[in-house]
Amino acid sequence: MKNFGLSIWGDDNFVIDGETININYASKPSLLQITQDIREKGYKGPLLLRFPHLIQKQISTLFKTFEKAKKEFDYQGSFHAVFPLKVNQFPNFVHSLMEVSDGYNYGLEAGSKAELIIAMAKTPIGAPITVNGFKDKEMISLCFIAAKMGHNITVTIEGLGELETIIQVNKEFNDKAENPISPKIGVRIRLHSSGIGIWAKSGGYSSKFGLTSTELLEAYEMLKANTLLHKLWMIHFHIGSQMGDIAPLKKALREAGNIYTDLKKRGANALGAINIGGGLAVEYSQHTHSQERNYSLLEFANDVVYLMQEISKRKGVDEPDIFTESGRYIAASHSVLVAPVLELFSQEYTEKGLRLKKKNPPLIEELYDLYNNIKRKNAREYLHDALDHMESLLTLFDLGYIDLEDRSNTEILVNLIIKRSIALLKNEGTDELKKLQDRIQEKYLVNFSAFQSLPDFWGLAQHFPIVPLDKLDEKPSNPASIWDITCDSDGEIGFNRELPLYLHDIDISTEEYFIGFFLTGAYQEVLGMKHNLFTHPTEAVISFDEDGNYVIDKLIEAQNLMDVLEDLEYDTNIIDKALKYRIEESEKISLEEKRELLGKLYLYLSENSYLKTIQAISESNQGVQA
Ligand SMILES: *Cc1c(COP(=O)(O)O)cnc(C)c1O
Repeated sequence: MKNFGLSIWGDDNFVIDGETININYASKPSLLQITQDIREKGYKGPLLLRFPHLIQKQISTLFKTFEKAKKEFDYQGSFHAVFPLKVNQFPNFVHSLMEVSDGYNYGLEAGSKAELIIAMAKTPIGAPITVNGFKDKEMISLCFIAAKMGHNITVTIEGLGELETIIQVNKEFNDKAENPISPKIGVRIRLHSSGIGIWAKSGGYSSKFGLTSTELLEAYEMLKANTLLHKLWMIHFHIGSQMGDIAPLKKALREAGNIYTDLKKRGANALGAINIGGGLAVEYSQHTHSQERNYSLLEFANDVVYLMQEISKRKGVDEPDIFTESGRYIAASHSVLVAPVLELFSQEYTEKGLRLKKKNPPLIEELYDLYNNIKRKNAREYLHDALDHMESLLTLFDLGYIDLEDRSNTEILVNLIIKRSIALLKNEGTDELKKLQDRIQEKYLVNFSAFQSLPDFWGLAQHFPIVPLDKLDEKPSNPASIWDITCDSDGEIGFNRELPLYLHDIDISTEEYFIGFFLTGAYQEVLGMKHNLFTHPTEAVISFDEDGNYVIDKLIEAQNLMDVLEDLEYDTNIIDKALKYRIEESEKISLEEKRELLGKLYLYLSENSYLKTIQAISESNQGVQA
């Protein structure tokens, strides 16, 4: 894995320049520099950095590519896009999104009442809003309110029950109105073809959403009978997220296209749009042999445009406008989670840790010689000798012939020999070597929560690119597994022989080392869990001024301890009183001490759950700031 697979997943958004990984934009600052700047302001723990210029890049690429495809086929319909809020509803993201999409008539998609309120408040009047998912009467009423505000809003019918409610709400809102205004209506179709992989559920006959052909015909009759047919203008489908293969999309497009043309010919004259939902995949892989996407955006756009044109031409109807609701594609790249390494767990396996005696057992002397004389051409042989000696030495220990110090020396020397031989034999990559990597893997304790910041890793085994922010001019030598600070064994990104991650060997008592988790901008934030009560990390928006220098903006610190408890509906006043009371009433401490304890307690309560400092290993050091 060269350069941490940057050329596979990086999309030219970052460059490795000497030691650091830098933003490939404007003055090209390093992520390390930005991180240190924020930490100097006093914000420790994990940081979520947002880059609006990367949102802008995705939006402009999406529009440009579809315009290119339209031009190539001389397509008559127009192209529109909305952002599905469920992918990221955080205000710092949504505000940046609306800012950078100015000029594209870009809108929002809502799947719940709260999301609809965001859409109604943040979408520019005239830009499209689409509303999907299950809806009750209140939600449909909100759509009517939005329409009356002047919004260009489309309600997607997911079932016939919803259509009945729409008909009813329409009467309530419009029967007495001078100027009847209602939202546009879309229908979500239940595809015969289904998605693939873990998302297969989103399509197909057993899908949670959409109307069957029979229901579609019925919906048509109901709309007609209630003089709402002129509002039916969009056919919608969504085959699921992170579509790795283009084939299911093509099938779905043929199905949807034929439904569109048939309904139009039947008399649904207002029909004018196909909404292809989301699903555009992001390449998260750091290894060429495990890539997640087998198509380019241009291929995707060409397929959509070509198939819609072909079907429309064949059936003799106008080519529909095309809508997309891609979310992951727009949001994933915009944020990077940066988290400090707190500790390396097998740091004891260093030469410094050896406690060699004046006279050592002969096998240990031999191990020591092997370690000192290992070279590329003898590495395999020495490695085998070392493993063999280790077995003998461990048996000698069990039988009481050597002591604990000897055993510790054995473990250290064998570990060092394995490490060195793997480094020497790196290009051979035999099974034996791969297996040994598991054994010497280094566990990096990192100040973050996988449950909070990478929930899809926990829930779906989704891989996220991992790159250290520093030392990138050195070859990383440690097969690495990453442990978060929750006390849950699932909070571990284990070393995987097939998709190995190597990190640098560092002495954390004297130097800082930060890990960057990339492509975390889609789905991870709201899905993040407060497991162990670790909250959303401190976040900042990084933009660039006219001179190309970066500006750190909109810093939001992670919630403090009391806010977290309040979120769980604890009465924090009672907690506060209880803590105070217990200190005041303690009989074992002096008045002065009590005052001091209270002072400390309140300081800690004002801070967040993430670790602040860790104990320095060396006395002289102040302790590395976490
Ligand atoms: C989730 C969802 C999307 C977004 O999917 P992505 O894979 O993130 O692009 C779009 N439309 C609907 C209806 C959705 O439910």
